Amino acid sequence: MLKENIDLVIIGGGIIGLATANEILRTKKNINIVVLEKSSSVASQQSGHNSGVIHSGIYYKPGSFKAQFCVEGRKTMTEFCEKNEIPVWTCGKLIVATKESDLDKIDNLYERGTANKVEGLRVVSQDEMKEIEPHVSALKALHAPGTGIVDYIKVTEVYADQFRHNGGEVFLDTEVIGVEKSNGKLIIKTNKGDIETNKVINCAGLHSDRIAKMFGMQTDLKIIPFRGEYYTLKKSKEYLVKGLIYPVPNPELPFLGVHFTQTMKGFVEAGPNAVLATKREGYRKRDISLRDTLETFTYKGFWNLLKNDWKTGIWEINRSLRKSVFVKSLRELIPEVNSSDLDVGGSGVRAQAVAPDGSLIDDFKIEGSENAIHVLNAPSPGATSSLVIGKYISNLAVKELGI
Ligand SMILES: Cc1cc2nc3c(=O)[nH]c(=O)nc-3n(C[C@H](O)[C@H](O)[C@H](O)COP(=O)(O)OP(=O)(O)OC[C@H]3O[C@@H](n4cnc5c(N)ncnc54)[C@H](O)[C@@H]3O)c2cc1C
Repeated sequence: MLKENIDLVIIGGGIIGLATANEILRTKKNINIVVLEKSSSVASQQSGHNSGVIHSGIYYKPGSFKAQFCVEGRKTMTEFCEKNEIPVWTCGKLIVATKESDLDKIDNLYERGTANKVEGLRVVSQDEMKEIEPHVSALKALHAPGTGIVDYIKVTEVYADQFRHNGGEVFLDTEVIGVEKSNGKLIIKTNKGDIETNKVINCAGLHSDRIAKMFGMQTDLKIIPFRGEYYTLKKSKEYLVKGLIYPVPNPELPFLGVHFTQTMKGFVEAGPNAVLATKREGYRKRDISLRDTLETFTYKGFWNLLKNDWKTGIWEINRSLRKSVFVKSLRELIPEVNSSDLDVGGSGVRAQAVAPDGSLIDDFKIEGSENAIHVLNAPSPGATSSLVIGKYISNLAVKELGI
């Protein structure tokens, strides 16, 4: 047995698993918690492959978890970084309407953001827009001065350091592969040996649906992986972007729409798009997993999604395969950008929970089963909101798991 008498096992060393672990140990000092992470480092999946934006909470339906978590999340994340000397830059975000048909959407976004109590949000004049982002060309723009950027790998590493400092253990290279029950305890099977525990929190991101099923959770949701690909702006063209420049989102598919982002990694990114990945951790086009692809293609939710949105799917594949189409989308924001200004950048894979009717689960979904809590959907702004989500799960663990 690798470990015995553990009070709580958290599966997944991403930003949400470690924020949760840290919060529970901070508030319940005498509890024995272990985090299991299958990769050799923390934040190796979504938490280390994202846009690095500290969102301010404009888009989300008032009252949704996204709206509640993000507005407080922005504040707590910014304060946490300042307190722990993690470089953070509140560079502001401009959302721009480039077509007549998007003009009303700017007003709707302003109303939504105001209802969500986003600080400092306002529709700006053409002169102000040019002052904020001189190279943008748009009919109307909304400015969110509180939006910022950070490196979420650094944030996750600090969560892990604090967790270890308070007595918690993070087991890297340790993959959960099964579970058994014995004398009222859970025996978690891993590639490194068994771990005996009373309770589990599943923060397994791209594999959260599989882990949920393993622990007896009845859910008909499935994770469908969508790869987001980025380009980077050549150094000589970075002057084109001062902060964050986003198009008006499609309310039905809000994660679509390529944008320009300053990053704390020392370059400017453009993207991401959203294409079906043929592997849950498929960061390259050529990455294929037979198991993952079969699971996607035999899920009726996938075919219903395709039926509802096949045109968008084909359009995104076209944009992924042809740089000129990607550049065309970017030129809607900054007309001066040319194909030769962009180098191929990194990518991330979104763990998108899809319902059997093909609908994309938009909000966070966190549910309990016997002796366990499962994070079944943690889309953007999951990283921004991680401290708040950690608190939410910690309270749920007290209520539902008796921790
Ligand atoms: C392209 C992209 C851009 C994004 N941009 C932003 C942004 O700008 N701002 C923002 O706030 N949010 C953004 N997000 C969302 C944000 O990154 C996620 O909400 C957040 O990272 C989710 O964290 P997590 O801990 O749930 O998942 P993950 O980071 O994926 O962590 C899950 C962990 O579980 C581990 N695991 C899985 N299965 C097992 C197993 N069987 N045993 C042990 N370990 C296992 C994995 O290795 C992984 O490390 C973006 C996401 C993507 C993909």
